[in-house]
Amino acid sequence: MPSQLEVSGVTVSFGGHRALDDVALSAEAGQITGLIGPNGAGKSTLFDVVTGLRKPVSGRVVMDGHDVTRSGPAKRARRGLARTFQRLELFGRLSVRDNLLVAAELGPHRRNAATVVDEIIERLGLAAVAEESADELPTGIARLVEVARALAVKPSLLLLDEPAAGQDPEETERFATLLRTIADRGAAILLVEHDMELVMAVCDQVFVLDLGKIIASGPPEVIRRDQKVLAAYLGA
Ligand code: ADP
Ligand code: MG
Repeated sequence: MPSQLEVSGVTVSFGGHRALDDVALSAEAGQITGLIGPNGAGKSTLFDVVTGLRKPVSGRVVMDGHDVTRSGPAKRARRGLARTFQRLELFGRLSVRDNLLVAAELGPHRRNAATVVDEIIERLGLAAVAEESADELPTGIARLVEVARALAVKPSLLLLDEPAAGQDPEETERFATLLRTIADRGAAILLVEHDMELVMAVCDQVFVLDLGKIIASGPPEVIRRDQKVLAAYLGA
């Protein structure tokens, strides 16, 4: 079975600066794959390449065996790709429910959008805030709504960019359980996260980016002890 996501040889330049340099990475269905690295390593840029928001100078993006390198974001969404953003990007004036509906109408189950949305609101315990406008939500809840909105696409590949930022420890713990459930239902999750405890607790595989290059990959217990990774984080 092909990987849900296979990235190879991806290079991105901003002016003369190589934000990504020959990056390869994969994410499997049913697994949570972590992508970690210091600030400015290129994590969000890689998400932009995978979602089709930024064209790489070179390299390929393959989803479930289909080369989508030349496809736009909408086409990738219809193939089951969804993401959240590091800076929250909910539609502030829309209700939680409408935010989810807009997303559901992009995905492969768009004909049943309302039903899909009802189910997610129920599952994530968002019924109490469903009719509230997104810009009135506390950060922890807004993060959850972002994930809910991504789930409304019924993704087979879910990209999460620092989804636990601004969540309190209790929210983070519930969130970890949610991620596990999503993966157990068969999605591939690619998780960018600064909360190292969360990454080490939930990820099956971890890729480490530093200065635009993958410097290590493997299971969390190996990554935790990798000298190159420790050096990158300590700036040594
Ligand atoms: P991370 O998400 O790992 O913190 P980013 O992908 O945001 O890193 O950034 C990687 C590098 O690319 C950084 O050096 C950043 O300053 C640069 N960069 C990101 N976006 C742009 C942009 N739109 N224009 C120019 N440089 C950018
Ligand atoms: Mg980032």
